[in-house]
Amino acid sequence: MGETKPKIVIIGGGISGIALGDYLANNGFKDYVILEASNRTGGRIYTVNLDAEGHKAEMGANWIHGIERNPIFKIADDNNLLELRHGNKGLRNKTSFKMENGEEVTEKIVNQVNLNYGQLIMQAEDFYQNGMPTMEENDSVGAFLEREYEDTLERYTNGDRHIRELLFDQRKRLECCISGCDSLSEVSLSEFGSYEELPGVHYTIPPGFTAVLEILKSSIPKENILLNHPVKCIRWNRQFPDPEKNVYECCVECENGEKFYANHVICTVSLGVLKAACDRMFNPPLPKMKLDAIDAVGFGIVDKVIVQFDEPVTEPELFRVELVWDNDLIEMNDLRHTWYRKIYSFEVVHDNVLVGEYDS
Ligand SMILES: Cc1cc2nc3c(=O)[nH]c(=O)nc-3n(C[C@H](O)[C@H](O)[C@H](O)COP(=O)(O)OP(=O)(O)OC[C@H]3O[C@@H](n4cnc5c(N)ncnc54)[C@H](O)[C@@H]3O)c2cc1C
Repeated sequence: MGETKPKIVIIGGGISGIALGDYLANNGFKDYVILEASNRTGGRIYTVNLDAEGHKAEMGANWIHGIERNPIFKIADDNNLLELRHGNKGLRNKTSFKMENGEEVTEKIVNQVNLNYGQLIMQAEDFYQNGMPTMEENDSVGAFLEREYEDTLERYTNGDRHIRELLFDQRKRLECCISGCDSLSEVSLSEFGSYEELPGVHYTIPPGFTAVLEILKSSIPKENILLNHPVKCIRWNRQFPDPEKNVYECCVECENGEKFYANHVICTVSLGVLKAACDRMFNPPLPKMKLDAIDAVGFGIVDKVIVQFDEPVTEPELFRVELVWDNDLIEMNDLRHTWYRKIYSFEVVHDNVLVGEYDS
């Protein structure tokens, strides 16, 4: 039976490719290889070490969003990776909304805007979830939020109105990071509610998200993962004789000229990579339906900045500083100089380390 098992090439050593390798290993498949372009596995999961004392921060995924039916939660929980969560970090629960002049926005205003914003986000989700038609053709989440919030803003004047506008913008920047877009005007209102968050609380993984990856990797023989192997071209749907004259349906060629023959190729590269390279990556080209989908679905950049200080910089209970930028205060919005104003929030990961998140 073993000899008839197909040869498989997996492209990409992020969690999708590694989870697939783990699945194949646990189901008796040996003849597979994972080709990863970079010099590490993990892709958008990337835990970095900050110092010799073992402090870490996540450059990529940080949260386990919901626990029911969540395979990441199951692995982390089964392997006691969550147990440190209730340590010192559990005491940190304060969120502070700071203006550019260092002043803190009052809790009352923050709560009001959060309530308005939360209600409007639920209404935006209703269009998909209750099959309601949107008011405008090709309506976007950004346009909807602006239209609807304008009614609320009419009740306020001058400074009261301005601070609410700034806070609302700050909430929208958070949503851009959640939706992975550069602006909410790119997010379709009619589909917004299709994203379903898994039920249950959110967790972090104190030893690092990479620890989950290492558990999955432990079932995969080391020689089955080839780093520094960027794939240049996937030839498929033809007959390819290998040097031993066996015939395969696919041949994967790497930038270094190495060729891998297979019966199946499973490509796990991101939508961003497909958008940039799918026209030269597949031969013959992918079917039109897939090319149209790759073209139509948006893909923005979400990135992080880690700021490390020599000594503690925050009060002990502070968990998050939300940044309330006022773009009226800058003369020209040239991203090369003002990119940091896209950081919507800093999370305190250690008392001397802040991690900021921003969209592009
Ligand atoms: C800043 C940030 C924060 C995030 N936070 C969270 C979070 O809190 N919780 C959460 O659940 N998710 C979060 N995500 C999303 C999560 O990280 C991703 O959904 C997940 O890691 C994607 O895994 P993947 O294996 O599908 O893709 P990737 O991680 O993108 O893996 C694809 C791999 O393919 C490789 N590759 C690309 N081109 C080639 C090629 N030509 N040849 C060979 N290999 C190639 C890449 O190097 C990469 O290693 C976050 C993402 C980012 C960027």
